[in-house]
Amino acid sequence: MKRILLAEDEARIASFVEKGLRSHGFTPTVVGDGQTAYDYAMSGEFDLLVLDIGLPRLDGFSVLRQLRAARSTVPVVILTARDSLSDTLAGLEGGADDYVAKPFRFEELLARIRLRLRDDRALEQTVLSVGSLSLDLRTRRVEADGRTTELSAREFALAEVLLRNPGKVLSRGQLLSEVWGYDFDPGSNVVDVYVRYLRRKLGADRIQTVRGTGYRLVDADARGSGADTRDDRATRRR
Ligand code: CA
Repeated sequence: MKRILLAEDEARIASFVEKGLRSHGFTPTVVGDGQTAYDYAMSGEFDLLVLDIGLPRLDGFSVLRQLRAARSTVPVVILTARDSLSDTLAGLEGGADDYVAKPFRFEELLARIRLRLRDDRALEQTVLSVGSLSLDLRTRRVEADGRTTELSAREFALAEVLLRNPGKVLSRGQLLSEVWGYDFDPGSNVVDVYVRYLRRKLGADRIQTVRGTGYRLVDADARGSGADTRDDRATRRR
């Protein structure tokens, strides 16, 4: 359940938005001034802030500026009067946050909120994982079976392509083009060499050889991966 903080001092609008949010499955909390909005938003307990610009104690611009200065990444949807829209856009400095102009239909606000919440989820997807193997694309941290592993840049790129396509067979040609940028096969065994490095670092049974075709990342922690390992060994003996 997504918790929405609503900072709005006009009781009529606050109640209309609060009811609408509740009926769409959100959990809203209403505050009537900017200082309280800032304090609540900083608690980290909210998934999104709907922020009026004209607020007592601290206006919406200052709330947003202070939140970002304090490194809060909470998504913010601004409510602003239509006739001061241009001031608002200037005040948002680059428009990193979304806005809805008053008067608005609830559906408009709802669409903005949903969009921002989706953005938020997309950010979280900088971590790719299959079973107990995970790759953090931002920190470049790699974990396998709860242990952190160091990968070279090329190994990381190869692991990333494999993790983006779990269970899918990727040909050597595809891997050469995606990881090494070759659009032809230079006739080297560089892909096989790097797959060997990755197997050593991440666990041999995670990357399956598909005979005559290429490689496939499998969930080594799931049941039934034993057969894959056998197939792999047969291929290597060849
Ligand atoms: Ca107001």
